[in-house]
Amino acid sequence: MSSKIEITNIADWGFDFNTNPIIAGPCSAESQEQIIKIAEGMKGAKPDIFRAGIWKPRTRPGTFEGIGKEGLGWLQAAREILEIPVTVEVANAKHVEEALEAGIEILWIGARTTVNPFSVQEICDALQGVDIPVLVKNPINPDLALWLGAMERLNKVGITKLGAIHRGFSSTIKTKFRNNPEWGYALRLKEELPELPIICDPSHICGNREMIQEISQKALNLGLDGLMIETHHDPDNAWSDAKQQITPDALHELMNNLVIRESVEARPELQSDIERLRQNVDHVDEQIIELLSQRFDYIKSIGDYKRENNLAVFQKDRWEKVTKGRVDMGKTKGLSEKFMMAFLDAIHEEAVKLQEDRIKLDTKDKVKV
Ligand code: PEP
Ligand code: MN
Repeated sequence: MSSKIEITNIADWGFDFNTNPIIAGPCSAESQEQIIKIAEGMKGAKPDIFRAGIWKPRTRPGTFEGIGKEGLGWLQAAREILEIPVTVEVANAKHVEEALEAGIEILWIGARTTVNPFSVQEICDALQGVDIPVLVKNPINPDLALWLGAMERLNKVGITKLGAIHRGFSSTIKTKFRNNPEWGYALRLKEELPELPIICDPSHICGNREMIQEISQKALNLGLDGLMIETHHDPDNAWSDAKQQITPDALHELMNNLVIRESVEARPELQSDIERLRQNVDHVDEQIIELLSQRFDYIKSIGDYKRENNLAVFQKDRWEKVTKGRVDMGKTKGLSEKFMMAFLDAIHEEAVKLQEDRIKLDTKDKVKV
């Protein structure tokens, strides 16, 4: 899925961000007093960007749906207290116009909006010709194309100061997370667009305060670029997402506890050690590929034999025995059952396909292996 998106490096966005920028602030703006209390409380932690939701996409009606336009003015106070830019979520053209009019420096698109190309396009049309950074949360369902698609639409109207926010994905499978962190999707995005800053939102991933530190660290360990953390002076009484917000003091502590991982490129003196270690891995990979190729050659010979003797490709008993034996062998070598099963399934799928191809051949067409 290759994507051509032009991205302005975050260092050139015109702000003075730390290496791993932290976005912090309440889920929702509730009152001017609340915004001031939170901003004052965050003077010690000193995040890079202040966030607050003004228009809230709530799952059910009848809950607090955001203070609306009035809240935009309150953010001025946070900007002055912390001397950092502010960001709000926009979900339609009217939000964009009002946010721009109020001088909001950075916009973000929420997960419920990224899923809808009509809404994303409406936002893009309102942004035509405007040079403002836009952060795009992942869509609620694990679909990389939708996430990329939203950024492509923004790019088409000239937005190149782009960032992605990984806030986890909905799933029918109940886990300890509110939204499952499918890290693979974030990493694939990184692979696809290495310049794109990816911010992790552990608040919406976890859905509770207890796991936020661990998930924040995990995100940085994986090479994600920054964090968005919901912060409130009185989390238990927050008007939305009460369980997952932390106090400004807890934010400060969390930031102090973070171990910042540098990219290998930033540490040239370690380059040769890393190179040597990587060479070992390259060498083993070459051997694995060579052995897999040999294994599949044997499989093809078995396929020919089965064809000549009219035998079925899939022999259930044999495969069960192979799986069990290999999984046990893997365990003695420290390889998890989950990994071994996934590995064996991939091998088996390919082997069955190769044998089916052989069975289809006429004896006269038999290819020597
Ligand atoms: C939010 O950031 O408060 C929010 C509504 O998040 P999401 O779009 O990730 O659900
Ligand atoms: Mn929230």
